[in-house]
Amino acid sequence: MRIYADFNGVEEYGSDSKMLCLNLTGYGTLASLSFHQIALEEGQFLELADFDGLSVQVIVFFDKERMSKNCSGWFAKFPKEDMSEGEELGHDFNTHLCFKCRKNMKSHLDAVGRQFNEECPFCGTSVMYPMSAP
Ligand SMILES: [Zn+2]
Repeated sequence: MRIYADFNGVEEYGSDSKMLCLNLTGYGTLASLSFHQIALEEGQFLELADFDGLSVQVIVFFDKERMSKNCSGWFAKFPKEDMSEGEELGHDFNTHLCFKCRKNMKSHLDAVGRQFNEECPFCGTSVMYPMSAP
């Protein structure tokens, strides 16, 4: 399976110019993780892709120092040369399934806004559950 990511936020990883990293925050990625019921873990391998089919295999890591209101603290790192053009990632913008009860929270989020702190209106699970700190 492939998880949606927005590659616009990609940055160099430390001083190694061959490696890139990408902060994993944002509702597109949250919805995709929740849909697949994947909670981020230190050292996890994932395939990230965007809607144009840009994709890459990454290793997930957590950086407590960078955790903030707008940053989950989770990052993906990968060699620059591994990024490739592939099949477009299909995505249903009308769906943001709850990680636990699997009900669609999209209309709730549309109503209350998206501040990275909402809870599922049906079971109370945090929208941030897939990006919980380790
Ligand atoms: Zn729920």
